[in-house]
Order: sequence, then structure tokens, then C-alpha cells
Amino acid sequence: MTMSNVLVTEAQSLLQEMGVDIDTLAGTLSVASPIDGSVIGQVAEQGAADMDKAVTAAHQAFLSWRSVPAPVRGELVRLLGEELRTHKKALGKLVTIEAGKILSEGLGEVQEMIDICDFAVGLSRQLYGKTIASERPGHRMMESWHPMGVCGVISAFNFPVAVWSWNTCLALVCGDSVVWKPSEKTPLTALACNAIIQRVIEEFDDAPAGLHQLVVGGPAVGEALVDNPLISILSATGSTRMGKAVGPRVASRFGRSILELGGNNAMIVAPSADLDMAIRAICFSAVGTAGQRCTSLRRVIVHESIADTLIEQLKKAYNSLPVGSPLEANTLVGPLIDQASFEGMQASLANAKQEGGIITGGARADGGNKNGFYVHPAIVEMPEQSATVKTETFAPILYVMRYSNMDEAIAMHNDVPQGLSSCIFTLDMREAERFMSAAGSDCGICNVNIGPSGAEIGGAFGGEKETGGGRESGSDAWQGYMRRATNTINYSTELPLAQGVSFDV
Ligand code: NAD
Repeated sequence: MTMSNVLVTEAQSLLQEMGVDIDTLAGTLSVASPIDGSVIGQVAEQGAADMDKAVTAAHQAFLSWRSVPAPVRGELVRLLGEELRTHKKALGKLVTIEAGKILSEGLGEVQEMIDICDFAVGLSRQLYGKTIASERPGHRMMESWHPMGVCGVISAFNFPVAVWSWNTCLALVCGDSVVWKPSEKTPLTALACNAIIQRVIEEFDDAPAGLHQLVVGGPAVGEALVDNPLISILSATGSTRMGKAVGPRVASRFGRSILELGGNNAMIVAPSADLDMAIRAICFSAVGTAGQRCTSLRRVIVHESIADTLIEQLKKAYNSLPVGSPLEANTLVGPLIDQASFEGMQASLANAKQEGGIITGGARADGGNKNGFYVHPAIVEMPEQSATVKTETFAPILYVMRYSNMDEAIAMHNDVPQGLSSCIFTLDMREAERFMSAAGSDCGICNVNIGPSGAEIGGAFGGEKETGGGRESGSDAWQGYMRRATNTINYSTELPLAQGVSFDV
């Protein structure tokens, strides 16, 4: 069998294992594997009318789901977590086949789904409101958190399943129903997740049918989701370009959006840094997932006294990076998602060169398959932070710039339109604290002595500026999926007004 045949067979058997009826797979949307560019499936592309139907059904489900006690809703999510544990290997492998990330990262993505299930189960008993002191005698104030409605989820190709689970697990325990529009590049993993969650819903007495809806298609069907007034929360993950289109549309109908958009993440490497650790952190965060994470490291800002040493060691480390099929055990750099991504990378490298960049790497690699778009990750030494450096290119390009003092490093760090993730390598506690302070990094994620990528689910995830300002996953991100009511209860026999206002009738 040729590689593509093997992939088709493999994808079909994984889908079957997870409960997808593969006989129903037919339609106009071709799904290609980045491993060898071959078509591994055809899927039906849905339209605006399908989206409207899905949203209406999800809204109907919401009307009863909102009254199911939150800990009972948590039990549904616990069962989802159990199913994901059972299918971790299959789903992880399908992520590798469809999105091209190495197997260990495919499995890691499913582990992240299991983790958020566990987190959400705990959360289902902790949707706390505050009790607030009232200024009036015989009064009590409190806040209650209530389900919001239907949560629309738009996801990107690079985390085809984890982003769905971050949103869906929180939305479900918060009493919302869900309509998911996955990336048109990764519908197979979406079908697998949908089969899994539908099974859990069917077997759960308290869960209404229609609680979770999947609608497959591209931006047009996404727009139908964005514009539907029954979508109370629209959580959209993808490029800043997409966010700029989606955000104002949701705002124009006073909907709530959670935007998780592009990043341009940096590391400052200070003179006291543990260089061995910094090099290892740079390699994982700059070339992991072939530079296709929103949190991928794209800029290193290194002190001039150690820059030559760091660059030399980095080039050495890059030289030995195994590029190849993500299914092979020793591969660390898999393929780019498609040809357009490869061309985007080459265009950015050409622009950086024009701006004075010195490039090492960046060429197309064999990767064991001529039809996949494999690349040697690039290191580009830049004389300054140019327009190209300030733009997110979703590929393994690492720009390296030098600084002479920390003021300059922090200014350079923040002088990009995006604000997702950031880090500093230093053993100087003053530098570390300053980087994390109000006058330091302006990002939503700010780390010390670890790279910018690979967040845990316990913290709130998201970023500022053109990254969109949304927060998902841990901490109090759940509040984005509920509405808050402030309640004032009068248990006295008087009717005093606030602020001492008198209004005697
Ligand atoms: P993309 O913007 O091309 O597509 C993302 C999703 O948006 C897809 O489902 C797509 O169909 C949909 N979409 C596009 N235009 C739309 C429109 N006008 N209306 C409604 N839906 C629309 O992004 P991509 O190439 O799939 O993913 C890469 C990008 O996603 C990068 O910029 C990356 O940084 C970002 N990303 C961000 C996060 C985060 O949490 N901040 C996570 C993953 C990816």
C-alpha cells in the first residue's frame, strides 16, 4: 500500500473505533493529511440553513439543561472524560494524521481534554457568587451566576479538539448548550469528538437531545453562527483576521464574544540566564507543532553580551532536529498544514531578508514524503524589530534580536500588536519580578524560566491587544460562560432607599 492508502485505512478505522459511521462520510469537503498531502476523507459541507437548524435545536436543549443542577451537569462531563480516556490513543493518532502534529503532541492534546473535563467536574460544585454587605439594615446582597444560552464555538486547525473541549466542558457545566464549527481543515477529528459526546448525551437521562451540535463548513457557515441572535456567547479561536471580522459582528447585536486570536510570543534571555535550559525551552516552543501553536515562540530578545553564544548553540541544536513524518517515534518537527502555509513562510523569510535579516534554515525538507510540506525550522538574526517580525507567520521562524538594557528589552517585547504569551530567562529576581509587573510584559501569559507554549489547563488562557482579550480554560474563565445577577433581599419591615434617598408616598 502507498502512504496515502495506509492513511485512509488508518483514519477510517480510528473513526470507526470512536463510533463514527464511516458509510455516511461523503460530500464535497476534501480532507487532506499534511503528512503526505493525500485526501483521507470526504465530508459533507453544511450551509447556513443547517446552522440555523442546529442553533434552534441547541436553544431548545438549553431551555431544559439550564435547570439541571450544576453538579448533575458535571456528571455528564465526568462521563465525557471517561470516554476520552478510553479513546485517547485513537483520537490522539487521528489528530496526528489530520493536523500533522507529532504523536506525543496528539496524545498530549487529548490529555488536555481529559484534564479540562476533570477541572470542569470540580467546577460544577464551585460556581460561586459573593455575599455582599448591604448599606441598608435588614438587607442582604448576593450575586448568582446563571446559564447564558447557546455557546457557539469556532475552532482553528492547530488545536482541532482541545479548544473545543476547553469551551464545551465549561459551557456544559455552566448550563449552556453548544454549537461547534470546527476548522474546515480538520473535520474528521470533529466528527470523532461529536460521536463521543453524542453517545454520552444519549446515555445520560438528564441531558436533552440537541445539547451538542456539530456543523461542518468554512467561514460562510461560521458567519451564520456568528450572526445568529440565539448565540449568547461566541467563542472564536483563529487568526486576528478572523477575529476582526467576527468580533464587530457579535458586538453589533450585543452578543458576548470570547476571542482567542494570533500571538507573537517572545522570550527575553538575560545575561544571568541558564543557557542550557533556555536553549531547550526555545527549541520546544519555537519548533514544536512545526511552529503552528498560537503560543509558539517567534521572537528571542537576547542580551548582547551572550547573543553570539546563544545563537551558536541554537544553530547547533536546530541542526540536529529530526524533521519527518509525525507518526515516526523520533520525529520532533512534523509538516506544515498545507502549501499555503509553506508559501506564507517563504514570503516572510524573503521579507525579513530584505529588512536585513540573516537566515539559517527555512528551506523545504524531504520529510520522507515529497507531497507533504516539511521545512527546516529557520533562525533569522534581525538588526531590529521590523514590520515582518511584528507580524505572526504561522510557521517555525524564530527572529533573534539583541538588547543592551532591560528597559529596551521590555519596550521591544511589548512593541508588537499581539499580546498572548511571553517569558524571561533570568536568575536575577529583580528582572523576573519586573517582567511580571504592571510595567513589564503586556501579555495574558507571562512566564519565568519556562517557554511561552504548553500552558496547563488550571490557569486562565488568553491574551491582550490583537490576541482578542478572551479567557478560556481554568481559574475564573467559567464566568465568561454565565450571566451574573445581583440580588438584594429585604428581610426587614422597612423600605429604606440606597444612598439615603427619601421618597415618601
Ligand atoms: P483561521 O482564522 O483561518 O480559521 C479559524 C476558524 O475561523 C476556522 O474554523 C474558520 O473556518 C473560521 N473562520 C474564518 N473566517 C471566518 C469568518 N469570517 N466568520 C466565521 N468564521 C470564520 O485560523 P487557522 O489558520 O485555522 O489557525 C491559525 C490561527 O489561529 C493563528 O493565527 C493562531 O495564532 C490562532 N490560534 C489562536 C489560539 C488562541 O488561543 N489564541 C489558539 C489556536 C490558534
